[in-house]
Amino acid sequence: MDIDYDPDWGTATRGVRAGTHRTAEGEHSNAIYMTSSFVFDSAEACAARFAGDEPGNIYARFTNPTVDAFTQRLAAMEGGEACVATGSGMAAILATCLATLSAGDHIVASHTLFGSTIGLFNNYLGKLGITTSYVAPDDVSAWESAITSSTRMLFVETPSNPLTEIVDLGALGKLAEANGACLVVDNCFCTPALQRPLELGAHIVTHSATKYIDGQGRALGGAVVGDADVVGDQVFRFLRTCGPSMSPFNAWVFYKALETLEIRMQAHCASAMRLAQWLESQPGVSRVYYPGLKSHSQHELAARQQPGGFGGIVSFELSGGREAAFGLINATRMLSITANLGDTRSTIVHPASTTHSRLAAEDRERAGIRDGLVRVSVGLENVEDIIADLWRGLAGG
Ligand SMILES: *Cc1c(COP(=O)(O)O)cnc(C)c1O
Repeated sequence: MDIDYDPDWGTATRGVRAGTHRTAEGEHSNAIYMTSSFVFDSAEACAARFAGDEPGNIYARFTNPTVDAFTQRLAAMEGGEACVATGSGMAAILATCLATLSAGDHIVASHTLFGSTIGLFNNYLGKLGITTSYVAPDDVSAWESAITSSTRMLFVETPSNPLTEIVDLGALGKLAEANGACLVVDNCFCTPALQRPLELGAHIVTHSATKYIDGQGRALGGAVVGDADVVGDQVFRFLRTCGPSMSPFNAWVFYKALETLEIRMQAHCASAMRLAQWLESQPGVSRVYYPGLKSHSQHELAARQQPGGFGGIVSFELSGGREAAFGLINATRMLSITANLGDTRSTIVHPASTTHSRLAAEDRERAGIRDGLVRVSVGLENVEDIIADLWRGLAGG
């Protein structure tokens, strides 16, 4: 039995209740279907299912009930008609691009994208004859002038990593419509608890479920959300043929994690705000990047576009440069030194020498990733403890 969801439900309720399947056992929490294939009563029944005359499962690369429960729940939260799950966030982006683009097509993307996404576009789509132009995320006129007659996709992350620049999704949605292109938003940093791009004019949302959706640093996964035709049919067919599908066990982990997504995101946002305000008053800190601060140049846009909150990522620049940044990171005792984000545990990283180290020094400087910049993914510890851990390094630096 499937329990239908009510379209009037809010995001938190959808996260708890949508995609509920109950077997004759009457289990309250969904079962995990750890099976790669499915059996049939007869050769005729098997043939009918393969022919598509009868709905149902055949093989877990195509569909699996646990994976379906996760995709139904996430689709409900994002407000999309269809959702497919992938083995990682990168597989979600790969599936979206290979299902919808052909040789000769052109992508316009923000230059602040996740490093592996830029690698996928330049190295792998590039050799298939799909080209990409990069623009500043917050400059709508730069997006407009980069569009050519071959442009089929606009690809963005907002807020950007690590400087939290905000892309105006409504404006880009209109630009995409006017040019026959598709607006794809990697909604990893916000999740549907904070921002629902499909309601703002985006056509497709991709996720790395590895980050906030799991939220506890356990499993690798991804998802694509959108309409029944492009996502439910084209991206689904790519996945079932080419195979970067999600494991049922990981789907169950993510499915359960969606039940606490909204409340976790609110806690990440509240602590990030406290930390950002505290950092602004510290003498060794020359600048704090957080969309919730009044000093953020796009604070108003962020407030409109992210009704659920400003996110859990705070970046800040130390006037003492790289030496001060390394000193601060090394002085922490609780924060984890890792480039990962979206975990219950707060993490700290020096972007210029890690996530953005492959950029040439002058490109990095132009992008604003200076040597004194530090990024914190604010976790779910008491914020006083996060502040105390950072204070030690600031006081010594
Ligand atoms: C981590 C990340 C990805 C890639 O996800 P994986 O699950 O690691 O493959 C894509 N986009 C953003 C913004 C990310 O942070």
